[in-house]
Amino acid sequence: MAADLRNAAAHSSVPCPPEASLKAATGDKILRDVFLGFIRIHVLHHAAEEPIFGQEMMEELERHGYEVSPGTIYPLLHSLEAAGLLRSRQELVDGRNRKYYRTTRAGNALLARLRSQVVELVHEVVPGRDSARPKALRRRTAD
Ligand SMILES: [Zn+2]
Repeated sequence: MAADLRNAAAHSSVPCPPEASLKAATGDKILRDVFLGFIRIHVLHHAAEEPIFGQEMMEELERHGYEVSPGTIYPLLHSLEAAGLLRSRQELVDGRNRKYYRTTRAGNALLARLRSQVVELVHEVVPGRDSARPKALRRRTAD
């Protein structure tokens, strides 16, 4: 028993083998993909409420614990616009052009769908939330 514990301790101090660090890197990439999905939902949510712009969204996301650079937020806004989910207009603010984004009808429809998916996901994966699960969902996944 004591030998096993020593053995385990020795193993934990061994630097990560290349295979393990590769797995960690893959994990990081998946985490980033998931976060980008969360950020898209977040952007759609705020753009549905009021006109938003890049800098403001970066600060809002930071408030929620996401570190998002201009190199991430601007291409993300452009891709949502290219997909027809956001619409932009330029406005002159302090002598500089600022691009404001709002959701389109398609953006609002997608957001409504995402909202119910988020609710479903939270009830499934967050511990202790099952009792709060809507009856229809409980019935559907009862087996
Ligand atoms: Zn927010």
